[in-house]
Amino acid sequence: MLVSYNHRMSSTEPIIFDSRVEPFMKNGYLVVDPDSYAVYIDPGDEAPKLVDWATKHKMRVTAIANTHGHLDHICGVRTVKDKFDVPIYLHPADEDLYNRLSQQAAWFGLTYPPAPPVDRFYQDGDLLRVGKLEFRVHHTPGHSPGGVCLELGEHIFCGDLIFLDSIGRTDLPGGSYETLIRSIREKLLPLGDEKILHCGHGPDTTIGRERKENPFLNERI
Ligand SMILES: [Zn+2]
Ligand SMILES: [Zn+2]
Repeated sequence: MLVSYNHRMSSTEPIIFDSRVEPFMKNGYLVVDPDSYAVYIDPGDEAPKLVDWATKHKMRVTAIANTHGHLDHICGVRTVKDKFDVPIYLHPADEDLYNRLSQQAAWFGLTYPPAPPVDRFYQDGDLLRVGKLEFRVHHTPGHSPGGVCLELGEHIFCGDLIFLDSIGRTDLPGGSYETLIRSIREKLLPLGDEKILHCGHGPDTTIGRERKENPFLNERI
């Protein structure tokens, strides 16, 4: 299935669409407000299909928001930018990674053209507004220097910081295991157990579930 329909609690709540394709199976999210204003979070290889789908359903895509600068999360930025010509957001600490998209692709034996330049940099504590949606930006480095979590009410788009029963890898340039664990403990967990985590890979989970069950956070181990 191209697009999975995740959440709609009431008519005033955002709708979240999630799509993933080979080779990275990275989740690309289109988050849409009640007036069809939308932000595309982490455009990757699924971007052509999700852009076509958004166009067909008359979504007003007004921003591209990246959780971090890794290849699988940014290789579709050009497709979205070419179609909608909207600002690209990133944390400045990942600009160097972002600007080396082609080099990152070469690490995997792949070829991608460079991504278009970042238009706006968001910092810890900033608010990203898209229509009626307000995302709070949390700088959560460790998987990459400029990784962010984007908090929208009960929803958190956490990139590759944490996954169901796992955490982001820290062996890529700029990664740090200690920094990542600190980001999770000091920045993410305090946001509350009930928050839903929309991860960069794999299924959704919650902060409470990971706080209790994630083997990387379980102090009993
Ligand atoms: Zn990553
Ligand atoms: Zn990823």
